[in-house]
Amino acid sequence: MAHGFNEERLAERNNEIDRLNEKLQGIVLLKSIEVDILEDGTLDLADSILRRLDLTVCSVHSKFNLSREKQTQRIIRAMDNPWFSILAHPSGRLINARSPYDVDMERLIVAAKQRGCVLELNAHPDRLDLTDINCKMAKDAGAKIAISTDSHSKTDLALMRFGVAQARRGWLEPNDVVNTMSLPELKKALKRV
Ligand SMILES: [Zn+2]
Repeated sequence: MAHGFNEERLAERNNEIDRLNEKLQGIVLLKSIEVDILEDGTLDLADSILRRLDLTVCSVHSKFNLSREKQTQRIIRAMDNPWFSILAHPSGRLINARSPYDVDMERLIVAAKQRGCVLELNAHPDRLDLTDINCKMAKDAGAKIAISTDSHSKTDLALMRFGVAQARRGWLEPNDVVNTMSLPELKKALKRV
């Protein structure tokens, strides 16, 4: 999905983030990228690139019509990669436009908990996955949730409130959500290797 991406440009961007972090006060920029989960469950970028980031956001953007078993296996296999941090928009639905892909969400939640992966609650009003029921299921399993806005522009950051509302509807509390962690806590929670 990363049009125009190459390793050199990512390295430049990472250096720029380092420079900014030296200057910024009271805020720390983390290095991340959204990585495609390919049909066979591998990630679309090499581990040698992923290991230089603070976290990765991994997601399905193709092959929505796989069987429930294959789609579930695909995502769990991706989670086996130790650089996998957050499963973004876990059902792939676009409200009023695209149905969720068929996947065993309960197994994804258990797999995420076992591997120390985080599940995204996508705050964008077109998405809002996880559902409230998925959120409660994740809480009961002890899996952590990241609420994020799927921002494609600065103004999208204001969508956060819809994610927080959905989290509350799904019985989530601050301890269930990685957004509430201090930076050292977050880094520790994301560190798998
Ligand atoms: Zn995406």
